[in-house]
Formats: sequence, structure tokens, C-alpha cells
Amino acid sequence: MRNVVIIGSGCAGLTAGIYAARANLKPLIIRGVEAGGQLTLTTLVENFPGFPKGVQGPELIELMQKQAAEFGAEFLEGNVSRADLSQRPFVLEVGQERLETRTLIIASGASAKLLGLESERKLLGHGVSTCATCDGYFYRGKEVAVVGGGDTAAEDALFLTRYATQVNVIHRRDQLRASKIMQDRLHRNEKIKFIWNSVVTDVLDPAKGEVTGVKLQDLKKQEEMVKPCDGVFIGIGHSPNTALFRGQLEMNDVGYIVTRNGSKTNVPGVFAAGDVQDHVYRQAVTAAGSGCMAAMDAERFLEAEH
Ligand code: NAP
Repeated sequence: MRNVVIIGSGCAGLTAGIYAARANLKPLIIRGVEAGGQLTLTTLVENFPGFPKGVQGPELIELMQKQAAEFGAEFLEGNVSRADLSQRPFVLEVGQERLETRTLIIASGASAKLLGLESERKLLGHGVSTCATCDGYFYRGKEVAVVGGGDTAAEDALFLTRYATQVNVIHRRDQLRASKIMQDRLHRNEKIKFIWNSVVTDVLDPAKGEVTGVKLQDLKKQEEMVKPCDGVFIGIGHSPNTALFRGQLEMNDVGYIVTRNGSKTNVPGVFAAGDVQDHVYRQAVTAAGSGCMAAMDAERFLEAEH
């Protein structure tokens, strides 16, 4: 029987691991399919406090992992295939293994939606990005494309105008889904150009290992064109990794776990941290902060039971 099991090994899960381990709770961290989380998909992280020259995303994750292990956190490779939160101890299945735990911290994150193109996957981290805040700085003086028409794409496009010479918003319809205020800001910004009714059918050029442009299909005119650019930001939304808990935990209408009073979910003993419960801030530092909160909440919950 475990005291604390943590699902997810991104910033939130690892920080929860550091805190729970230092509290002598011997946490088990289940690493998950996207082990290390979204930071492992990015390059230089310049806004995580304590690294004035920046730190590579994967390196930051590795350091956090070492730090958690240093204090006694254990790691399990694999993915949770079933979770039963209906009674305590909670039961998790990971491959052939069955785990029982007194408390559970869910830090399974959110995954940026991708278009699903082979070239997009190959160039992820090499010109294709799902995070303008993380990677925008590298496009100073360059031209970029943003795919999507919602608030994420709008926010990304506006952020990128700080650096890029031109930001091309590529949207599959002729109307944005983003909030009115964001739409107004986009339309007022001279650096932003719109390419309407178009979908990206290919990202160029995997053979060169960098982005040189995007191949587009105009859905109305049924024409193909190539738009040269130096970077592509995919802003078509995120999906929280919460499918396992549907029907067991309270979620909002887009599937994010609802937390109250810190990291508490509606099930006593189950806590949530990081992007799985946050679709507003979504930063490494806020994820880490909420991981700390979840570990402290779990510790207090266990203490209160004694
Ligand atoms: P969203 O509102 O679902 O918008 C996703 C956009 O991507 C839509 O325009 C959609 O096109 C497009 N899209 C989806 N799949 C696509 C595909 N396969 N190929 C091409 N285009 C695709 O997602 P979001 O922008 O991430 O926003 C999610 C929620 O968070 C919203 O409630 C939003 O208001 C909120 N949010 C708020 C802020 C803020 O207030 N500052 C910032 C970010 C997000 P269609 O329009 O044709 O469906």
C-alpha cells in the first residue's frame, strides 16, 4: 500500500514528488506516455526562475527528476490503464501491475493538439512549436505562421508579433472562434495577416531539418499554395489527459479536473496539479507551484487520518 501515487512526470508531478519525498511519504511517480511532459517538447526555457541564461526544457525535467529521486521518490515506467477512485485505498492498474494508494495526485497534464501530419511531428522542436510563450523569442526578425482560430491561436499570434516581422494566422474557416476582444486586437495589429479557409497539408521541409514554409489547401477555391515562413505554431487547443477519470471526478465542460481549496478534487484524498486542472496559466512555474500544493495537501490529508 502506497501513501502517495503521482500520475505524471512533468513539472507538476515531479515537484509533487520532491515535496512528498521530502515529507518521507515515499511517493511513486508513474511516468506516463508523454514522460517529462510538455517541457520535453520545447528547447530553451527562459522564464523559469533561477536560470538567468535559460535552461533546456528536457534538462530542467531531468534535474527535477534527479531531485525527486534524491529524496526517495520512486519511478514507474508505464501508463495507468484503469483507475478506481470509488473507494479507498484507490486502485490503479499500470500494465500488469495493480497498485493501491491512500492518496492520489493527478498530474497527467494536457497534450497540445497537433494536426497529425508526419512532417509536423518530424519538425516538432525544430521550427514547429505548440507554445508561443516558450519559443516565440527565437523568431525575432522572422516570419511565422499560427494555425487555429480560437483564443489560443489569437493569444499566440499577438505574442509572436513582439518578435516576428509578420504573423500569418491560418484558419480553416473565414471567421475566428476567438473572443471578440481578441479578434479586435488581431485585426488592429498590422503585423498579423490572415489566410482564411485554409488547412495546412504539409510542413516544409523535414529533409532540411527546419521549417521553410507550409503547404496550404484553400478549401473554398480548392487550390494549393506554399506560404514560406520560418516557424509554425500549432494553436488548435489542448486536451487534458483525464479520460481515465471521467465519471469519477468533477470536470469542467472541456474535461479539465475541477480543484477547490488548493488542489482538492471532489473525491477526498485525490488531488490534481498542473495543466490537468489549469487551462488558463499553463506555465512550467505554475505547474510546479501547484504540484507543491498537491503534495502538501496530500501530506495534511494523511496526517489528519492518524
Ligand atoms: P478552441 O476554442 O477549441 O479553438 C481551437 C481552434 O482550432 C478553432 O478555431 C478550430 O477551428 C481550430 N482547429 C481545431 N482543430 C483543428 C484542426 N485539426 N485543423 C485546423 N484547425 C483546427 O481552443 P483554444 O483556442 O485552445 O481555447 C480553449 C478554451 O480556452 C476556450 O474556451 C478559450 O476561450 C480558452 N482560452 C482562453 C484564453 C484567454 O482568455 N486568454 C486563452 C486561451 C484559451 P474551428 O473554429 O473551425 O472549430
